Amino acid sequence: MKPQAVKGTHDILPEDIPAWRQLEQSVRTTLERAGASEIRTPVFEYTETFVKTAGESSDLVVQKEMYTFTDRGERSLTLRPEFTPGLLRAYIQHGMHVRPSPVRLYSIGPIFRAENVQRGRYRQFHQVNLETLGSADALVDAETVALLYDTLTVLGLDNLTVRLGSVGDPEDRAAYNRYLRDTLEPEADRLSETGRERLRLNPMRLLDTKDPSDRALIDPLKRPFDFLNPEAAAHFARVRELLELWNIPHELDTSIVRGLDYYRRTAFEIHHAGIGAQSALCGGGRYDGLVRSLGGPDTPGIGWAFGVERVLDALAEDSPERPALPGPLAFLVPLDAEAVTEVATTARELRRELPVGHAFVSRNPGRGLRDADRSGARYAVLRGTNERENGTFQVKNLQSGEQEDVQEAALTDYLLERTESR
Ligand code: AMP
Repeated sequence: MKPQAVKGTHDILPEDIPAWRQLEQSVRTTLERAGASEIRTPVFEYTETFVKTAGESSDLVVQKEMYTFTDRGERSLTLRPEFTPGLLRAYIQHGMHVRPSPVRLYSIGPIFRAENVQRGRYRQFHQVNLETLGSADALVDAETVALLYDTLTVLGLDNLTVRLGSVGDPEDRAAYNRYLRDTLEPEADRLSETGRERLRLNPMRLLDTKDPSDRALIDPLKRPFDFLNPEAAAHFARVRELLELWNIPHELDTSIVRGLDYYRRTAFEIHHAGIGAQSALCGGGRYDGLVRSLGGPDTPGIGWAFGVERVLDALAEDSPERPALPGPLAFLVPLDAEAVTEVATTARELRRELPVGHAFVSRNPGRGLRDADRSGARYAVLRGTNERENGTFQVKNLQSGEQEDVQEAALTDYLLERTESR
């Protein structure tokens, strides 16, 4: 049997790379124009960094979705199941709160979750993550959601909907959880096992349930939105007003709850019509208080993350044409044994300026042209006895079939002049 990648992980093959690069470059440009700087934190952290932030009742902890291991020094370490905790740890460790506020940081990289594998749900996947730290203003919420929407539309996605809600302040959440407990505890035996667990740990998470009997109990009840204090309600109204002003299509989601415990006030997701059940491309929200709980200064913050695989799936759905893998500009073919070294030497020189391939053994012209063609090159450059005598290369345009003898010393410029039209 052939060796297999670990279940829930996948290879990103050479032919997939152009789409990944295109996405990464576009995202970097959009985010950096909006004042974000890249930060690269380690893929693992002390486990407590994640447990403290995600919360004891989050899926990450309760459903054991974290890849946790003990190293030789008996320390408990965890592969990052999200970017935010490591990023905030770095923000605190490096005293970034003294930088001009708000501080805006982004990361792109792998994320690890021990989840049930299904379509669109992996154990190692990738996220683009943005955090904006240092402002509690509703303007920042709206601008952050708008930036996410713009990042995805610039990539070429249509059919996007922002689902927007507010989970209120901690007192509101506590009041709502109390309400759910008071209402549901007498009927707890009608809940599923997960439902009962949620009722015990964090009743709000019942709103996320897909279990039909849990749904029947929860659907008629009030929503977190009904428990917002006046300030939180005004904050949310301002966010919506700004999104309307900027024409960001959004719908109110009064029962939005996120899988992590740390959110407060604005919470949002972006969904794409084309990719089925796992239609959430992205999630995010405000998390004032989180930096403090990690041992840092009292710093408000808001952030979001989108799954790269899922966005690429959605892009493929919207426009099935894939960006092509770029071949070399020229492919050099030695026509005799002596030309093998000559060609390799010339390729080294050309590669200072151009992408160039070559054959490693001598070929007859027919086979050489076929190799050049298969490499994806636009020009085949042949070298044999005649060329050696004349101090030239024979250059063939593989698209038009045109052929020209080019002096050795002029080859770089000849090819450079032809790069623009690539
Ligand atoms: P979350 O941090 O759970 O809000 O996830 C943010 C985004 O990451 C989701 O909207 C998905 O696009 C993506 N994502 C989350 N979990 C997975 C997974 N297991 N496999 C692939 N993408 C995921």
